[in-house]
This record gives sequence, C-alpha cells and structure tokens, in this order.
Amino acid sequence: MKMPGYRLRNSAAVAAMLVASAAIALARPPQAPPVLMLPENQVTHVSPHVWAIVGFPNIGIVVGDRATLVVDTGLGPRNGAIALHEAQKLSKGPVLYLTTTHYHAEHAAGEGAFPPGTILVRPIAQQKELEDKGAAFVAMFSSRSPQMKELLEGVTFRAPDITFEKELTLDLGGVKARLFWMGQAHTKGDELIDVQPDSTLISGDIVQNKMVPNLPDDNASMKGWVEILAALRPMKFKYIVPDHGALGDGSLIEQDFQFFTKLQHRALEMKKQGKSADDAGAALTAEFRTKFPDWPNLSAIPNVVKHVYAENP
Ligand SMILES: [Zn+2]
Repeated sequence: MKMPGYRLRNSAAVAAMLVASAAIALARPPQAPPVLMLPENQVTHVSPHVWAIVGFPNIGIVVGDRATLVVDTGLGPRNGAIALHEAQKLSKGPVLYLTTTHYHAEHAAGEGAFPPGTILVRPIAQQKELEDKGAAFVAMFSSRSPQMKELLEGVTFRAPDITFEKELTLDLGGVKARLFWMGQAHTKGDELIDVQPDSTLISGDIVQNKMVPNLPDDNASMKGWVEILAALRPMKFKYIVPDHGALGDGSLIEQDFQFFTKLQHRALEMKKQGKSADDAGAALTAEFRTKFPDWPNLSAIPNVVKHVYAENP
C-alpha cells in the first residue's frame, strides 16, 4: 500500500485499534474487547485538506479556508467531543459542518457533543433510516457491555439542518466535499464523500480494506453494494479513508469489487447446484480462506451467502 502523504503516529496503538475495530463487526458478538474510545492527539494527514482519526470508527476531517467538515462522530458524545476537538485544532475557518456515513451508533451517536451552530447534513434516505431504527440500534449497542451503555447513556438525535437526495457539494474554501448517496448497501442510507482537488474518497462502509461485507439486517443489500462498487470503479481516487480498518489508496475499490463479485458469483453457482445456504456458507468460507488468507473476518462469509440466497429467489 503506497501512502506517501500519510504521517502515522504511534503505529502500535493504531495497529491495536485496527484489530479491535475489525473484531467488532456489527451483528456478531465481539471476538475481542473493542477499543471504544477514539485516540486523542493522533491524527493522520491523508491528503492536503484531509485528516483522519484512526479508531472505532475512522473519523474524516476536511479542512478548508472557510469551513471544516467532520465525517462521523464516534460512539456517543464523549467520543464526539474528541472528534470535535481534533477538528477544532485543525480548523482555519469559522464554519463547522458535520455529516455521518450511516446511522449506526458509532457513526452518528456522538452528535450531541457538537456545538449548536454546527451545520448537520445527511442524505434523506439516511435520515429516514435513523428516525426508523436509530434508537433501536443505540439500545442494541447499549446491551452489549457496561462501557457501551455508559457511552450511549441519554443519546438523542437532533434534526439535520440540510438534507439532500443524491448529492450535495460543500465549498469549504479551497477544497470541495461532494457528499453523495447511491442506494442501499451496508444500510439504506450509506453516504460517501468525494474531496477535490485532493482525490480523496471518505467511503463509509462501502469501500473498506480487506473486510468481508457486513450485512447486519434487511436494510442491507449485497446486490446494491456490488452495483455501487461497479459505479465507483471508473472514478479514480488517490486516497481512501474507509470507516473501519486501515487507510489505503484508490486500489481498494477494485480490490473490494473483485472480492465481492467473486463471492456473489460463487454463492449463486452453489444455489443453482441446489446446495443449502448453510452448506454453501461453510464451503465458501473454506474456499476463500485459501484464496484470501489475509482477510481477517472471513467468518462473516456465511451471512453474506444467506443474503445472496435471499436476494435471488
Ligand atoms: Zn455500520
């Protein structure tokens, strides 16, 4: 992975966090105690106007002359305060925007820490999903551990200041952030952020670094996810800030597209052969362990296979 612009600080701590965030994939019991607090004073410089806090999840900070955009909040207001503080240290202009890549608690539930003047922006599909399922997701996270419960105590969500259907470009002063929504994938409301002239994509869950797709419930669609990756392929990015796992370069899109389409294709082949979803899940987990030995969460494959079966009756 070539990342000439990156300054990685405290790489042992970063590595520990990456392991933890990989282990906490949604809708499965955590395999190791997750590091739930974002690190302080540890930002990675990704591209001229973009910084990232690498943690659970990765937070994107886009800094223009006039305004700053924070992407995702961390789990609850205590993490939101860390994201806000790091953004304030980098900010050059008076205006602060906040957006979230999807409604899940570690991405959206820290919003309460941001000052009242913060301009909160979301795709309409994500806002609707948050209103439908946000509180239930916070309750589900809270039931997982006393620390999660404490971090999410009293969380409520306020109404956004700006919503958009498909895309909205924020001119931050010397840098533009195009917020866009392409349909259902990890959730119904996944948002991505294209930062120019940096050639940086802040990708939410849509593009990650060697992570099997996480399809937590019926709001997720493997079919939709593959279509979005196909649409992203011709867009050339130098840098990608995924929301979980290691930062990477533009090749992550192709890497995900190849893995996702291969897995989808093999699952459909097994369905045509009359194999049950459970048998296909076990067989493909074994098959992909030999083809993709360095992907850490291959145990998520049976869940993907179930979704592919259900989506192709
Ligand atoms: Zn999520």
